[in-house]
Formats: sequence, structure tokens, C-alpha cells
Amino acid sequence: MTTNIALVGIGKIARDQHIPAIGKSTGFTLSATASRSARVEGIASYTSLEQLLDAERDVSAVSLCTPPQVRYTDARCAIAAGRHVMLEKPPGATLAEVRDLAARARSAGVTLFASWHAREAAAVDAARAWLADRTIHAVQITWEEDVRVWHPGQDWIWAPGGLGVFDPGINALSVMTTILPGAVHLAEAELAFPANRATPIAATLQFSSDFAADISASFDWRRTGRPAWTITLDTSDGEAVLSEGGARFTVAGRDVIGGEDEEYQRLYARFADLIATGSSDVDDSPLVHVADAFMIGKRRTIDPFEW
Ligand code: NAP
Repeated sequence: MTTNIALVGIGKIARDQHIPAIGKSTGFTLSATASRSARVEGIASYTSLEQLLDAERDVSAVSLCTPPQVRYTDARCAIAAGRHVMLEKPPGATLAEVRDLAARARSAGVTLFASWHAREAAAVDAARAWLADRTIHAVQITWEEDVRVWHPGQDWIWAPGGLGVFDPGINALSVMTTILPGAVHLAEAELAFPANRATPIAATLQFSSDFAADISASFDWRRTGRPAWTITLDTSDGEAVLSEGGARFTVAGRDVIGGEDEEYQRLYARFADLIATGSSDVDDSPLVHVADAFMIGKRRTIDPFEW
């Protein structure tokens, strides 16, 4: 038997990934959508989640694909109505609201899944397993892309809570926090804010850890041409590179693993497992590093950004 699921926020990621992944899933059937202006052909549609939850009593799970600034209210409403909830990344606009949702889901006895799609990329598990037996000397994360190509016209990313360049950067942090063998914390950061925007267009980060002398990251939305979504590790067994957003892992220039993009199919399989086992998965560690960058990062104001 499949679980009837509703999608909220029918924008780019809902259309590119969630709808196809639910279509291929054996655990879920897309039964309804809530979006202010968009709809999906052949599926019951509502302009608010509240209306949907009232009308669609058979929908027992909700997947939220809206921007982070509006995620909390909908998640809270779905949990209060006894529905299981999956959150797109980042799980919220603040840490406190994510932790509040986790507590509410626990009391309501429903599943809350804070998803991190980049962790499901084809080579991430292999990289984690390979690194577990090695000494890591240094880590360089380069997550750079052209904002005009990857986020065309998305004004919410420039509004408070939209995270700016940390919207893709948090994908790198979600991978970093799953492949490295120990805890890290942010030591220094510098954030570049366009004079007319509330969120940064670029950031450099320096982390501290017990196991590697140097862990640093560069996030930049001003890169044009081919994006770089790469983590390069200097290890006791040579240079290892997790590239293409986690889809490919090479050691000393030789492929260890590469594979098809099944990130969202894997996320929905995991959500189904969590529901079946009555558990939740709410790891906010990538968001902690972003919050720390906003807390201790030096701020530079640069030229205004226009689309
Ligand atoms: P998007 O294209 O802007 O779509 C978000 C949808 O949410 C909108 O189409 C809008 O539909 C609805 N929405 C509700 N309240 C909104 C508000 N106040 N402002 C703007 N939209 C609002 O964004 P997206 O790229 O799909 O990203 C959504 C989430 O998915 C983000 O957290 C992002 O980090 C994550 N994500 C995106 C990608 C990607 O490649 N784009 C990849 C992975 C994860 P209605 O107007 O119909 O309500």
C-alpha cells in the first residue's frame, strides 16, 4: 500500500525532482498540491495547505518545497493535523524553528524528515567509507556557480532568511558533515553582500577540527560557465576528490565510483522507511555552520547585484 502525499510549493525543485521522484516511488502516490499560483495537471490542487489538509483526509504525508522563510508555518500546521512531514533543504529559516518542529513531531507521534538531497548523491557513501580509514590533512570545498543560471528570478534567495550563496553552499556543508570522520566548527568567515541585497553573494569559511590542519570553503555565485561543486581532500593515501556535487569520487586521479542521479528517489525511499519505523531524522548541523557564518563572519559590502 502506498502513502498518499501532498506537495507544497510547486516551483523549480518540485517540478524538476519531487514530482518525477514520487512518480517512480513505490512508497508514495502524489494526491494533491498546495501552491498559490501553480498546479499539476490531473492532481487535486489547493492554494493553501490549510485548505488541502481540511479537504484531503487521506493525505497522510506532506512534502514542503517552498522557500525556507515560509516553511515553518506550513510544517507546524501539517504536524498539528497529524501528517508526516518532509522538508526541503534548508529545513528552516532559523535553528529554533527547526528544533521546535522536531519537538512538535515527537509529541504528535508523526515523522519529520529534514532532507539533505546532496547527501544522497551517488558517490557520497563511498567517499565516507573510504575516508574512515585514512588520515585527512586538508579539505578544500569549492561550491561556485552562476546565480543567474541556477536561480533565475528567485528573489526569495536575496531576502532575509533566503541564505544567499549559502542556499547552494549548505549542500556542500551537508556533504561535509556526513563524510568527515569527526566534528568541525567554524573558526573564521568572510561574507560579501551586494549593497542592494540582504544575503551574501559569496563567502569564504575556515573550519577547525581535531583531525585536519586546514578545512576551508569557498562559495561564490559570481562564477560563470561550468559550475564547481567539489570537495578536495589531501589524505594519507593521496588526493581524493568528490566532484559533480557528490556524484563522482576519484582517488589519485582514478575513478572510485560515479553514478546516476537518484538523489530524490533515495530521499523518498528514506522518508517511507522513517514513516514505516515511526521515526524522524532532523539533523540541523549544516544549518548550524551557516548560522555561525552569519554570527562571526566579517561582512564586506560590494557592488549592487541586478539580475
Ligand atoms: P522556487 O522555484 O522559487 O519555487 C518555490 C515555490 O514555492 C514557488 O514557486 C511558490 O509557488 C511557492 N512559494 C510559497 N511561498 C512563497 C514565497 N513567499 N516566495 C516564493 N515562493 C513561494 O524555488 P525552488 O528552487 O523550487 O526552491 C525551493 C526550495 O527547494 C528551497 O529551499 C531550495 O533551497 C530547495 N532546492 C532547490 C533546488 C533547485 O535546483 N532549484 C535544488 C534543491 C533544493 P506559488 O507561487 O505557486 O505558491
